[in-house]
Order: sequence, then C-alpha cells, then structure tokens
Amino acid sequence: MYHIVKIIFFFALKLTTTLIYTKTMKTTLIMLAFALLAPAAVGQTNTFSYKTKRGNEIILLSEGQRAGNASVLIGATPEIISETMPGGSYPSATNAFLIRTVHGKHILIDTGFGKELFKNLQQYGVTADMIDIILITHMHSDHVGGLLDENGKKQFPNAQLHLSAPEYEYYSNPNTGSEQAIAIFNAYRDKLKIGPFNELEIGSIKAIPAPGHTPGHTAFLINNVLVWGDITHAMAVQMPYPQVAVTYDYDSKQAIETRLKLLEFITKEKLIVAGMHIPYPGMGTPVANGKGGYIFTPLEK
Ligand SMILES: [Zn+2]
Repeated sequence: MYHIVKIIFFFALKLTTTLIYTKTMKTTLIMLAFALLAPAAVGQTNTFSYKTKRGNEIILLSEGQRAGNASVLIGATPEIISETMPGGSYPSATNAFLIRTVHGKHILIDTGFGKELFKNLQQYGVTADMIDIILITHMHSDHVGGLLDENGKKQFPNAQLHLSAPEYEYYSNPNTGSEQAIAIFNAYRDKLKIGPFNELEIGSIKAIPAPGHTPGHTAFLINNVLVWGDITHAMAVQMPYPQVAVTYDYDSKQAIETRLKLLEFITKEKLIVAGMHIPYPGMGTPVANGKGGYIFTPLEK
C-alpha cells in the first residue's frame, strides 16, 4: 500500500517540477494518495505499545491519521513551506494514550474524539470501568471528546479526572469556556482533581505545566517518556522550525517559548516524546539539528 502511495506522491511531485500539470490534477493526485492511506489507518495504525525503562506501558490510542495544510501555520515563510511540505500538506493524527502501570493501574491521557477510543481499548482488554485516572492535557474537543456519551453521561464511572487549575478556571468560566467543557465538569464533579500539577505526582507520573496552546495546557512525564499533548500540530514543519506557531494556539508567543523550552529539556534528558498530533506511531525522539531546530525520528513500528 505504501508503495502505491509513494508512487502517487512521486507523480504529484514530478508534475510539480515539470510544470505540465493543472492545480486540480495535482490536488486530485494528493487527495488520492491520502484516500489510499486512510484505509490503512484503520486497525493497523490505531495502536502501538512502548514500555518505559521502569516497565510502565504506554499505548497509543489513535483516532486516525490525517493531513493538515499551511493555512493554519503562523510564521512559516514560503521557503519553509516548500522545504517541509513538498506535497502541499503535512501528516498529522489525533491520539490519546493509555498507561498500564507496573502496579496494574489504568491511566488515560486525553480521550481523543471518542470515536475509536473504546475499540482501541478493547484490543488491550480494557473497558471503561477499568480506567482509574484520566489526565487531561487541555480541554479542546479532540482531547476530551470521549469523556461523555451522546446523552451527556460520563463514560468512565470509576475514573478521577485530573486537570490543571488554569485550565479549569478558563474552561469552567461561561465567558471563556466551552459548553462541552462545562458539561464534562458537571458530569465528573465528584471525581474532579484540579492542580497545581507541578506539585502533583501520580504514581511515577509527573505533570509539567506547558502553557500557550491553552492557558493550562499540561504535559506528563512517565519515566523516560514525555506525553506532551499539543506542543506540535505539524511535526514536519515545527520540528525543524519550532518558531512556527498554529492558529489553534491561545497564545502563540507563549506556545513557541514552551515548545523551545520543552525540546531543550527533552534532548538534554534524552526523553522519548509522545504527542496527540504526532503521526503513527505517535512517539519518537527529537535531536537538535544545530540550526535551532530538531530532527524527529519516530519509534520503530
Ligand atoms: Zn489537539
């Protein structure tokens, strides 16, 4: 399948360079390539498991792979775009993660849209009532979509819901929050745990404030893996050029500062990164490229 996709991308690019194409032809070819990628994304690329150095298992639960386009990027020059997005788009994904701790606890980090979540959990023999803790990186709907069912009832009867204080304050305020967030807070009212996360350690998981994308955006460190939430949306662009922001950021200047700070920390500590919008397998290692950016190598599939 990947060979066919590669060939189609090759022709799309070839047509770009020989200039004998129409824009529609190129778009059609690229769309065809992604359409071919889509079926491969179901089942085969929805989950992936990695064991940390201390034996905690981190499992990717993907809602699917997708392609993003340059219209959401802030600060990407035409040169950056042509260098990092030769096909006109960047690969992305929507992910949540399950942690199976050495003590037998089940911890979710985010819940994605909630579309593939329960099927993915089932693959590992995990049902909703087995989830002990849910850690929320931030309250955007592609991260908290699995918390309530279609009737607004909570999906995880036994789980405690952890989020940072600034995130709770912003999203529980009717003037700044969302209806979805307020419904979630109401449904989980008796199970809510609000930060400060920098003082909170759950088992061997440490919460690290990572503001900018949202006011209380939080990353979670599990042994040698940092689950960094939405520190990037366009890996292909924001790894070599971390100064490029996205329109989804609440405060893009702060988001860039946080991204740079975390990347420095990650490379110094030689950590693996797991991200909610990192394409399959959703985890990998960034290394400094000596030009202020990073080269990202995904974990071996
Ligand atoms: Zn997101």
